[in-house]
Amino acid sequence: MSIVLVVNSGSSSMKYRLIDMRDETVLASGLIERIGEYRGLVRHDGPNGRHELARRIVDHEAAFEAMIRGFNEHGPSLDDYPPVAVGHRVVQGARRFLAPTVVDDSVERDIEDLIPLAPLHNGANLEGIRGARRAFPDLPHVTVFDTSFHTSMSDAASLYALDRPTAERYRIRRYGAHGSSHKFVSAEAARFLGKPLEDLKIIVLHIGNGASACAVRGGVSIETSMGLTPLEGLVMGTRTGDIDPAVLFHLHRQAGYSVDDLDELLNKKSGLAGLTGSNDMRDVEARARKGDALALTALEIYAHRIRHYIGAYHAQLGGADAVVWTAGVGENSPDARARAMRGLEFLGMKLDPELNDQRVKEPTRISAADSAIDILVVPTNEELEIARQTLQATGIPADA
Ligand code: AMP
Repeated sequence: MSIVLVVNSGSSSMKYRLIDMRDETVLASGLIERIGEYRGLVRHDGPNGRHELARRIVDHEAAFEAMIRGFNEHGPSLDDYPPVAVGHRVVQGARRFLAPTVVDDSVERDIEDLIPLAPLHNGANLEGIRGARRAFPDLPHVTVFDTSFHTSMSDAASLYALDRPTAERYRIRRYGAHGSSHKFVSAEAARFLGKPLEDLKIIVLHIGNGASACAVRGGVSIETSMGLTPLEGLVMGTRTGDIDPAVLFHLHRQAGYSVDDLDELLNKKSGLAGLTGSNDMRDVEARARKGDALALTALEIYAHRIRHYIGAYHAQLGGADAVVWTAGVGENSPDARARAMRGLEFLGMKLDPELNDQRVKEPTRISAADSAIDILVVPTNEELEIARQTLQATGIPADA
């Protein structure tokens, strides 16, 4: 049985999913929160529904013990459904990791070496890998990097116009993120359209709490909106996206903001949260419907930026065959889609209002019959993409 355990470790949380790759069904999933705090939360969704309990989880190794307890107590038993490999999400692989990689000690050291490029993420990802290798010492562990899909970007798309020795010394360039999602969604879109991915130019809009756009030509990323870190680009739940860097100098000089203050301001207190007080698109839309002017302005800023990137990527791709919406907002908010695509009919992108208003759970066309470019909603599945790449890296067939 080709069963893969997918793990996504954050600094204080860990998500997991057990997937049977013969038919790509999810056997169980779970979430462990507040690792290292006095009271942690363990949630396991198995064959008998959801089980939750509060207990102290001191570190990532303890999180894996809690996960294994979840499988033992609530099923399915890992003896009956033994994983053949563990796939780990890692945010930053820089130019070192071009593809999913089977973990050994030197891979761990290289991920550690990349921590300065992703201080909020890589250290936590590594803790998860170390905990998992101790919990499952006999299994192959595979790292799947958010950045690998974007290593195909040209220097023109990925270098900043920064002093070259400084940029090289500190490895500053645009690495992008959400790679597993952009890869998965562009392949699904090609399958839905019944055309070879190699022949298609696709603009993928991954719009969730984090958000990024990607220009995909022939299945390859040629440009994406996130940069050195996931802060650049679109307006997000709590992040500014694009901003004149001189705003930082200004706040430092005029208001005494420290580097940490600025980091917190731009990453945690901005975006929809900064503009309206809520990072949740559902709240912002509900307030806008009641006529709240601040919420309406926030939605317009959010849409304006998405429209900006659609236009840019249409130009970089030299036209497009499809625009594909995905992630929490992209899959669920007809209003966000309609607002961002308003006025793009001249490019051949025309929504069908009724199709756009549907609730969808699978790939769906939402463009008008006379739209030159297909507009689709395609639910993303990063965990499944990580599981597929994990098997690929180990060479284990999905139908073993
Ligand atoms: P993600 O990060 O992909 O899980 O997306 C999370 C975001 O999706 C949430 O913060 C919500 O703002 C947004 N979202 C989820 N469901 C809806 C919905 N029905 N309408 C509008 N936004 C939604």
